[in-house]
Amino acid sequence: EDAYLEVTDLQVQFPTADGLVRAVQGLSYSVPLGRTLAIVGESGSGKSVSSMAVLGLHDRKVARISGSIKVGGREIVGMSEKELEGFRGGGAAMIFQDPQSSLHPYFTVGDQIMESYRAHTKVSKRAAKERAIDMLNRVGIPNPKRRVDQYPHEFSGGMRQRAMIAMALVNDPKLLIADEPTTALDVTVQAQILDLIADLQRDFGSAVVFITHDLGVVAEIADDILVMYAGTAVEHGPVKKILAEPLHPYAWGLLESIPALTGDPQPLHPIPGTPPSLLALPSGCPFHPRCEFKDRVPNNHCTTLRPDLIPRTGDLGRTSRCHLKDPDQVFELEVLPRLP
Ligand code: SF4
Ligand code: MG
Repeated sequence: EDAYLEVTDLQVQFPTADGLVRAVQGLSYSVPLGRTLAIVGESGSGKSVSSMAVLGLHDRKVARISGSIKVGGREIVGMSEKELEGFRGGGAAMIFQDPQSSLHPYFTVGDQIMESYRAHTKVSKRAAKERAIDMLNRVGIPNPKRRVDQYPHEFSGGMRQRAMIAMALVNDPKLLIADEPTTALDVTVQAQILDLIADLQRDFGSAVVFITHDLGVVAEIADDILVMYAGTAVEHGPVKKILAEPLHPYAWGLLESIPALTGDPQPLHPIPGTPPSLLALPSGCPFHPRCEFKDRVPNNHCTTLRPDLIPRTGDLGRTSRCHLKDPDQVFELEVLPRLP
């Protein structure tokens, strides 16, 4: 499979009065058309920052970005604001957690979807309205002919989220980035929105990056997972394999927090400790202050040597960033998480 999105050695840094914030360091991944990559990690792990860089959404006056981001073969890093606008409108879209951030309260939902469509496709107002109605219908909004003329405040939270998805998809983006799009919704609506994104992805054949801290969601929709910690990938590979047998101690901790897929939402199982400051990353492995396995690695390597992201021998497509040679022997099988 050819990668549609290809991120290589991405760095995102923010110079501040207190020093350089290293928000993303040496991140590489790729996503082919028709596949979904879930990026998981605690807040501050670089999930959103790296994904915003993919769409060129950072203000260059505050962010330093280097490395390479190729979308459909085009390099995003270094594009002008104008080129970026064209790229975002046509080929790529982002769905955020909070629909308020992309729906304007003073315009009807239909007008906003139409405007987004007409900015990139030369069609009559009438044809654009038909397209808006069709999109509202596709995202499961009942009575779309009436709803198209309503304002965002006349929609429920779940419907606003759907309307935002309709707007994001109106130009058939080949790349869709969804940043915790279901977090603020109740469980039933959440499940509907996930089904919707999966359906739409199948219809449009897009490459999807789904950012979440909810592993139940990952199990449901993703093909691959990238686990981020302190601005970098610590584990990456096919979702079924990683859920069944995580290699990195941080991924192991996260997996203990997997909620039941069908039952009530459960609080995430917190991993003891807090993520490191991105102003002053720990020496060696950035996870070492929180890692209960560091003593199993000889010669204090965990506190002195930064581990590389290395392929797992004999397991195609899996990589992890840990000095442990054989995690299978370290992890105790009886606490394996339930599989979907
Ligand atoms: Fe833990 Fe060491 Fe592996 Fe880091 S490299 S995750 S500290 S065992
Ligand atoms: Mg975020």
